[in-house]
Amino acid sequence: MRVCIKPFGVVDASVLEFLQERLAEIFGECEIVLPVEIPSQAYNPMRRQYRSSSILESIEVKGEQIVLGVIGEDIYAGNFSFVFGEAELNGSKAIISLRRLRPDEYGMKNGNLLKLRALKEAMHEIGHVLGLTHCPNQKCVMHFSNSVFDTDLKDWRYCEVCTEKLLKKGVRIKL
Ligand SMILES: [Zn+2]
Ligand SMILES: [Zn+2]
Repeated sequence: MRVCIKPFGVVDASVLEFLQERLAEIFGECEIVLPVEIPSQAYNPMRRQYRSSSILESIEVKGEQIVLGVIGEDIYAGNFSFVFGEAELNGSKAIISLRRLRPDEYGMKNGNLLKLRALKEAMHEIGHVLGLTHCPNQKCVMHFSNSVFDTDLKDWRYCEVCTEKLLKKGVRIKL
């Protein structure tokens, strides 16, 4: 399976490279494509945030692949004050935002923690693309994260139940 990482605007290169390396190992192939501008219609000046569904809609997918958009800005959806990401369930595209994952947002240093959190959110949204829904297992990456503390509690992997579901769909991954 091929995963394309599509940066929206300026995104921390070290995080993108980490994601590429790990997602290539897990899904087989992963490349970072050229960054694109954040679609201006996605910006909500009242909230000073970007609407994740508008960004998701703007992503074009060619062939048999998954496109993972990555943005440094804050995104929101529906009634949520913010979201870590959004995905097309059983589709081909997803978006994650690094903004709320940054340890410096919470008075800590960035570094490896930001990369690990980004990997967890990427795995979570790709899981939705592959048809997985939220998992009751707190340790599973498909568990819903209300806050970054939930993200830190969970593993970056799919649990056995979720992995089994993927296998039944013919999705082969290396965890
Ligand atoms: Zn989710
Ligand atoms: Zn699970």
